[in-house]
Amino acid sequence: MGVLCHCTECRKMTSSAFSTNVVIPVSEYTIHGSPKNYTFTRGDEKHITSFCGECGTTISKIVEGIDKFKGLVVVQAGTLNEGEGLDNLKVDTELYVKNRADWVKQIDGATQVDTA
Ligand SMILES: [Zn+2]
Repeated sequence: MGVLCHCTECRKMTSSAFSTNVVIPVSEYTIHGSPKNYTFTRGDEKHITSFCGECGTTISKIVEGIDKFKGLVVVQAGTLNEGEGLDNLKVDTELYVKNRADWVKQIDGATQVDTA
């Protein structure tokens, strides 16, 4: 499932206007090497972000405290290799659309959510 997130934390984490994510079952996800983690909280939510300690690339995120993310991992789509789905990603949902930058257009057909 393709998800864009316009929240302030994703903007800062990706140094961009929004994050582009592929959300998959955690059972289908394996991370190699020894990533570092950065954790932030937002109310009852806990966001555990893994990133490469060598180059700083954000890799994936586990979100606790939001039922719809239970058992899922949020993979930063920009880390996918060519042919792994970034180029033809279907964006199903946009999160934190209340924070969308004025110059970023809504994705046709994507569910629009004010928060997470
Ligand atoms: Zn976000």
